[in-house]
Amino acid sequence: MNNIVTIQQAETLSDELRDGSVLDIIRRAVESFGEGLGFMTALGYSGIVLLHHILQVKPDIEAHFIDTGFHFPETLAFLERLREEWKVNFVVVRPTMTREELTERMGPEPWRVNADLCCHHMKVEPLLRVIHDKAAWLSAIRRDQSATRAGVDVVELDGRGVLKINPLAYWTSEQVWEYIRKHNLPYHPLHDEGFPSIGCLPCTAPVQPGEHERSGRWNSMPKLECGLHLHARKAKSRSKH
Ligand code: SF4
Repeated sequence: MNNIVTIQQAETLSDELRDGSVLDIIRRAVESFGEGLGFMTALGYSGIVLLHHILQVKPDIEAHFIDTGFHFPETLAFLERLREEWKVNFVVVRPTMTREELTERMGPEPWRVNADLCCHHMKVEPLLRVIHDKAAWLSAIRRDQSATRAGVDVVELDGRGVLKINPLAYWTSEQVWEYIRKHNLPYHPLHDEGFPSIGCLPCTAPVQPGEHERSGRWNSMPKLECGLHLHARKAKSRSKH
């Protein structure tokens, strides 16, 4: 799949889409990229809201999920629930290196030895294998999730040269939950147990009231992102709210 898009093209697309509704943005992305449009999700609450919109436009979209081998059992059970109830066309992507091979190489707790290397083997490597199979990717990241995401726009050319479309970029956490309640959507059960952001079990902790949404991720380490989202070459953005 040829996914070479210039920064100027990404900026033009961003300007065109920024003020559209989530459904408008998805429709335009489907018209533009067809089968070349992918969606990647870790099944957090924003991902569910985006998925709910996407399925109204393209019910057979390939929804990629990276199975690191370290997920909460609740996450994998939730995936199966969505596959069953929403008929989601999940594509589960697994790392080349198995969990056993990783622990043999790095010890029983590789995230403590070198979390960046662990993320590289279990998340980034499988991502890199599939990411260039699509011309553009839908993502549920939002500006209010963390300081590292504060600059994301509706369309961005990320640090790997991949075109990312983020229809919820300007939504707040409150708006996302309001949508979930309004449409009575299912959501990850751990959200009700103090986990606003859910990744691998060893690297995800509950968050205290008033703490930032992603503050429970790698909370004992100076690490903020796993390497899936690189924002170095985003299209221009502006404040919307
Ligand atoms: S989030 Fe933790 S367990 Fe998961 S791949 Fe990264 S370092 Fe490893």
